[in-house]
Amino acid sequence: MVPYGIESIRERIFSRASSVQQVANHALEAAESLNETLNAFLEIDRQGASSCAEQLDRVLDQKAGDVRLPLFGVPIAIKDNICVRGMQTSCGSRILGDYHPPYDATAVERLRAAGAVLIGKTNCDEFAMGSSNENSAFGPVRNPWDTERVPGGSSGGSAAAVAARIVPVALGSDTGGSVRQPAALCGVVGLKPTYGRVSRYGLVAFGSSLDQIGIFGLSARDVARVLGVIAGRDAHDATSAAVPVPDYVEELKGELKGMRLGVPRALFGEGLDDEVRRSVESAIGVYRELGAEIVEVELPHAKYSIACYYIIATAEASSNLARYDGVRYGFRAEEADDLIDMYCRTRDQGFGPEVKRRIMLGTFVLSSGYYDAYYRKAQQVRTLIKEDFRRAFERCDAIVTPTSPTPAFLLGEKTGDPLTMYLSDIYTCIVNLAGVPGISVPCGLSSIGLPIGMQLIGRHWDEALLLKLTHAYENARPFTALPRVVAN
Ligand code: GLN
Repeated sequence: MVPYGIESIRERIFSRASSVQQVANHALEAAESLNETLNAFLEIDRQGASSCAEQLDRVLDQKAGDVRLPLFGVPIAIKDNICVRGMQTSCGSRILGDYHPPYDATAVERLRAAGAVLIGKTNCDEFAMGSSNENSAFGPVRNPWDTERVPGGSSGGSAAAVAARIVPVALGSDTGGSVRQPAALCGVVGLKPTYGRVSRYGLVAFGSSLDQIGIFGLSARDVARVLGVIAGRDAHDATSAAVPVPDYVEELKGELKGMRLGVPRALFGEGLDDEVRRSVESAIGVYRELGAEIVEVELPHAKYSIACYYIIATAEASSNLARYDGVRYGFRAEEADDLIDMYCRTRDQGFGPEVKRRIMLGTFVLSSGYYDAYYRKAQQVRTLIKEDFRRAFERCDAIVTPTSPTPAFLLGEKTGDPLTMYLSDIYTCIVNLAGVPGISVPCGLSSIGLPIGMQLIGRHWDEALLLKLTHAYENARPFTALPRVVAN
């Protein structure tokens, strides 16, 4: 097996042990051969990736360009709700038909400019709505640790592709947990940056005030490297911030002595799987040994976060998804009596059941009779949640919680009960409501060999600290277990 991290791939390339073409081929072959088992990719772009690799090899041979690019020759997979020129963007939905965006998302453009080789688009829940990948119109992704189980969602394809060592890093999107929760369930690192840290230009909108592009990787170092490439102000996205981008790799160094880690005890109670609790407690113990001080913090409004999230996210989704009308994009229903009938049939045939449920919920909470009772109330609670974090961060530098209340569940286990499914996001969606950054870090295995993740939450713009904490944990207690399904 090729040692799979950005650093070792670059070393192989620069020492001429492998060409960029060979590295890309390895990823493409792994993606193709494992797709029958995992269904992680909706498109594998052999042609595009090969010609990009060929070009990079030429740069290397002729020393005709900058070979020190931070992602030179690194294969990367992109969630299929992020636009990549030359590939499809389906969002895991039928309604986009065979939509091929004529442009790159800003994050993608920056990856290309840094020398990355984009190998394909990964499967996801339809319009990123889900926690198990079972809402994809193209079938669920399977978890590489146990193919009878879900990989988490909605960025399950990206999480599975990294866990199975098809690619060292991948992009996903996180509106309420869709990078961190699948990262936890697949045993990889998953970062959701601060709202505004990474441009959303070219990310198909779900809940615009919550959406952020996030990164999957096998280590804090790899995630740090990619974040350094994609972060920063973008004129195409007015919500991207002009906050300076630090050298995240450089900032991994240093001790944890004197740092304070907050533990919201109340979140370790009801509904949390025992093995997850023990694993996260033990990880907290590692931080204590590394010199961090553990303090208790409170997030009194956390109990309202799921309700609040599912009002705000569905409200924004109902408005964002109004554009899929059979006129502007992809799919249109064949037979219709008139314009309104065409809209109705297109949306009826094009959207899956979860998306319809969310559009209806969102339209309801925004309707004139209920706006104040639901939508406005949720916005007020959101402000209280932000206040909770502000107060908690007066007492500590970062907060530790589990990422997901349970390890990976069985395919089909929760599909009949959307409310139970929604509870998968109990620890993650609060982070999006506050706009702060969060990262999921593998911290153990359950008794039946399923990965467990802890979540670290930081202050706005403090990704560097989260990555440093992750890095310190990785050094103290490396997570070396491999899933059953893995590229060779
Ligand atoms: N699982 C959550 C939902 O279904 C979060 C999705 C996401 O982060 N994109 O809305």
